[in-house]
Amino acid sequence: MKKFFLSALLIFTVCVVGCAQQKTSSDVNQIPTEVATPENSSQEQSVPQAQPDKDYILAADDLSNLQLDDPTKPVYDKYILWERQEKNLPSVLPKLVPYDAKSVAYLTFDDGPDDKITPQILDILKAENVKATFYVCGNMVETYPDVLKRIFNEGHAIGNHSYNHRYDQIYASPWAFMEQIIQTDNAIKNVIGVRPFIIRAPGGVGMFNGDYWSMIDSCGYVEHDWNALTEDATPAKPNASQQVNNVLKYLGDKPPRSVIILMHSNSDKVETVKALPEIIHFLRDWGYTFGVVTPMTPQPW
Ligand SMILES: [Zn+2]
Repeated sequence: MKKFFLSALLIFTVCVVGCAQQKTSSDVNQIPTEVATPENSSQEQSVPQAQPDKDYILAADDLSNLQLDDPTKPVYDKYILWERQEKNLPSVLPKLVPYDAKSVAYLTFDDGPDDKITPQILDILKAENVKATFYVCGNMVETYPDVLKRIFNEGHAIGNHSYNHRYDQIYASPWAFMEQIIQTDNAIKNVIGVRPFIIRAPGGVGMFNGDYWSMIDSCGYVEHDWNALTEDATPAKPNASQQVNNVLKYLGDKPPRSVIILMHSNSDKVETVKALPEIIHFLRDWGYTFGVVTPMTPQPW
């Protein structure tokens, strides 16, 4: 009965999101002529399209190939949730045992993509040969599809961070949260042809004020918060060296086996860009390698 109820709600969501998809598709089709610059266009041409197996893992239809231990390859699905429902494919992930991440650092950037900060972060990651994870918002994806394509084609992981990041709407109910997740998957898939399984709740899971976990599990997503942060989105607005010190503070005297670092790649985060090379260098000096977040990434707590 509960399953039937969930299916009925999902079908309702299919209708809602399906209608939104039509609008989104036409919006996305219009965007390149509006926002593409010669610089963006040449960037896009110079980066080869990411390929399954080589650059990322594509989930099997029955989700049977996801028990992985490679911390370097993103994992995506070729179907969004309602497509799985429609095709009668499983949407609940099988029980996945997180791999043992020894000295792995996960750099994560939330709230983008944008066309100022995110490209600078991508340039640094490329120069340092480091892969990272970008938790994106659906409305930003629709505005900056070329930047999302660059993230994808350069082998970074893309995670889902809600559609509009508005707490009053996202946390109105677990279904309101899930509708924004599905809407954002839709936006992502319209640009890169696949969608993520990984999500991050805006503000972190401390914002959950209801039964969000069973909703997340039953819809086949995996949420990761963080165990270190630069505090770049706090009112204190730390400068680059303060941000480096903040990360050191969270790592403490006994650095954790794996560290998921929260940063942001939108609007005015110029100090984050300045801090990033030093953060990468000291993590490397401490023996960390760099991974991307996948459904098998161990939780940071
Ligand atoms: Zn956020």
